[in-house]
Amino acid sequence: MSLDVLSRTSYNEDHEAFRQTVRQFVTKEIVPNETAWDEAGIVPKSVWPKAGDLGILCPTVPEAYGGLGLDFAYNAVIDEEFGYGADVATGFSLQSDIVANYLISYGSEEQKKQWLPKMVSGEIVTAIAMTEPGTGSDLQGMRTTAKKDGNHYVINGSKTYITNGQNADLILVCVKTDPDAKPSWKGVSIVLVESDREGFKRGRNLDKVGLDAADTSEMFFEDVRVPMTNCLGEEGMGFIYLMTELPQERLSIAISSQSAAQRAFDQTVTFVKERKAFGQTVYDFQNTRFILADLKTKLQVGWAHLDWALARHLKKELTPVEASAAKLWHTELQGEVVDKCLQLHGGAGYMNEYPIARQWRGARVTRIFGGTSEIMKELIGRSL
Ligand SMILES: Cc1cc2nc3c(=O)[nH]c(=O)nc-3n(C[C@H](O)[C@H](O)[C@H](O)COP(=O)(O)OP(=O)(O)OC[C@H]3O[C@@H](n4cnc5c(N)ncnc54)[C@H](O)[C@@H]3O)c2cc1C
Repeated sequence: MSLDVLSRTSYNEDHEAFRQTVRQFVTKEIVPNETAWDEAGIVPKSVWPKAGDLGILCPTVPEAYGGLGLDFAYNAVIDEEFGYGADVATGFSLQSDIVANYLISYGSEEQKKQWLPKMVSGEIVTAIAMTEPGTGSDLQGMRTTAKKDGNHYVINGSKTYITNGQNADLILVCVKTDPDAKPSWKGVSIVLVESDREGFKRGRNLDKVGLDAADTSEMFFEDVRVPMTNCLGEEGMGFIYLMTELPQERLSIAISSQSAAQRAFDQTVTFVKERKAFGQTVYDFQNTRFILADLKTKLQVGWAHLDWALARHLKKELTPVEASAAKLWHTELQGEVVDKCLQLHGGAGYMNEYPIARQWRGARVTRIFGGTSEIMKELIGRSL
């Protein structure tokens, strides 16, 4: 099976034509390089402009800022094709599904003109830095500060686990502009920091359990001066912006997770039909067929749910609680699928030369980043 047979109400012929472009790009530019990039621990910046040339970066950016002005269903197509076609995380979706949206929604005219065209073309790589060594889930507890000095902010603090951290040219840094604000969320702002600012230092590219090629880093800010015009939107509104934009990030993770789960499942069906034990194929054991039947059923339900969620998001009706539920369900499903599929591979499943091993390692993080499963349950539970 491939993603083609699925019914998706949010996609038209143009989306499907675009899908072919993305698929070819993944096949030609990503898959042959996966092992080398995993070994290097980074996706080279040189691949970004190639994606940009084909419209694969930030498709929703309006034409006035160098983009194609398309709907989020194009991002969803990209997420599906990368999730189904490749085992490396390129960091593209962070730029396209997350960072671009902050600039489109809250950026000043000058910020949009300066940064969006370069994000679309792949000339620059971006990151968003919320998490700190001392706090992740509890974002209001962040300690990085931006103090005013004349018409500048002076930023001090550190961030960690930042995707695209080594490659980033521009970082959306979440800071406290008023550390004493009550309630504390009112003190949070988002400031654009260019990576060539004096006092900014990248730390380690962290050694992870999986997604080896994804660049996940520490960042340090020591008296980094940036003009106050680098504040994104209004000072003190950062936390509201984060809460407003996180649903799209969570839907994006849900889409990638479902696609990656489908990839693991399809590859496993092929594997068990070839692998022999006790004079028959592994597929011939009823236990195998029952496990696969169970997973296939859940995947089918999952696609129908995503179709619903995407349609609601395109109409701006998907609520933060619904997006949290989508992230929770699809990432937990991915975890279940890759684990059961690895088991059906036997010892081969534990060998990195088999794709399922890489998929199993990579899948573990989707229940953690973008908000943990526990935080998703908190958000859903609180809404009842
Ligand atoms: C590969 C990777 C990439 C990442 N990319 C980025 C990025 O680009 N930008 C960025 O800012 N961050 C990024 N992160 C950070 C990520 O979002 C955080 O790790 C995540 O939100 C969890 O925060 P934490 O690590 O501080 O865990 P903690 O908040 O310390 O949580 C520890 C445990 O406590 C649980 N817990 C916490 N609060 C509650 C609660 N209220 N109720 C019940 N349980 C709770 C958690 O669910 C978890 O199980 C990335 C992380 C990884 C691993």
